[in-house]
Amino acid sequence: MAEKMKAVVKTRPKGGAEFIEVNVPRISQDQVLVKVRATSICGTDVHIYKWDPWSEGRIGRKKLPQILGHEVAGEVVEVGSAVRRAKVGDYISAETHIPCKFCIQCLTGQEHICANLKILGVDCDGTFAEYLAVPDSVCWVNDRAIPPEFASVQEPLGNATYAVLGEDYNVPGRSMAIIGDGPIALFAVGVARLAGAVPIFLVGKYEFNMEIARKMGADHLLYANKPDVDRIAYLKDHTRGFGADIVLDMAGSPQALEEGFKMLRKGGRFTAFGIAAESPTLLDYNNGIVFKGAQVHGINGRKMFDTWFRVRNFLASGRLDISPVITHMFALKDFEKGFEQMMVRPRHSAKVVLFPDSEELKGAKKRQG
Ligand SMILES: [Zn+2]
Ligand SMILES: [Zn+2]
Repeated sequence: MAEKMKAVVKTRPKGGAEFIEVNVPRISQDQVLVKVRATSICGTDVHIYKWDPWSEGRIGRKKLPQILGHEVAGEVVEVGSAVRRAKVGDYISAETHIPCKFCIQCLTGQEHICANLKILGVDCDGTFAEYLAVPDSVCWVNDRAIPPEFASVQEPLGNATYAVLGEDYNVPGRSMAIIGDGPIALFAVGVARLAGAVPIFLVGKYEFNMEIARKMGADHLLYANKPDVDRIAYLKDHTRGFGADIVLDMAGSPQALEEGFKMLRKGGRFTAFGIAAESPTLLDYNNGIVFKGAQVHGINGRKMFDTWFRVRNFLASGRLDISPVITHMFALKDFEKGFEQMMVRPRHSAKVVLFPDSEELKGAKKRQG
């Protein structure tokens, strides 16, 4: 077993990260060592990369150096003595919410919102490396039919799946408005299509991502940044005047929330996933929620592991094609190019996947065609 490995490490409390040699992690009794095959860049990684006020507050200077990343697919190469589930040779991904197993949420089927939640790549070293140590409890065994560049993005795809299906899975034949055009919103369009939502509206800003939304199956594309279109009137016109049965907010902006609640029909479900930079207070509470009889559903993470079972079936069957959302693939050493793609505006990327091994990257590019 190698002693040293290359990793993308946040070494200093300022913007950027370094590609340096570090020790291969030592696993504890309940952890497994994973050889990383693919790892994708998430919005959270971009916050940490930029070292914005959120990451300064959440991670803090004291914990540096830290390896970035949390979305992963790889092979188990070593297991700790107390490991029960994962085996050497398993092809796994990892749930990034590491639960305590003892709090009220953990004991009542809501591990994903554990009171003592630890997050991979935020509270501990992450996946932008050749090897990763991860608790057995969050290992997820992949179907070999799923290529690593898809297996890696099951974490955000799981967010999208949980957001679309909600708690009641009451989706077939329901109209759905998805606000936002980032990767998770684009995944949500695909899942909504597969789950039978109809019609599907996508409210976005960027031409490049709107085109992906169209490929993923959106029926109507509405621009959030074009003042000449009355989006609420348009949506009502195309839902027999009712408004959308289900609204997913995946933007978190005051405009998205205000419009989202106006788009929602009486008795509909509003799913809140987008994170607001400041707590929005624009909401018309009486008309937006109370008199409307709205259900409001916050999404943090994925249902463990209900969402994972569903996502695995979606991908292994080929029934959900997420290839339009995977727009860029780079070698791990070229991570800076990946972050640049993620940060450029107007957007010209959705999901960016990194590969520690150049052969693995070649294989993925061949599959992409
Ligand atoms: Zn993520
Ligand atoms: Zn817990």
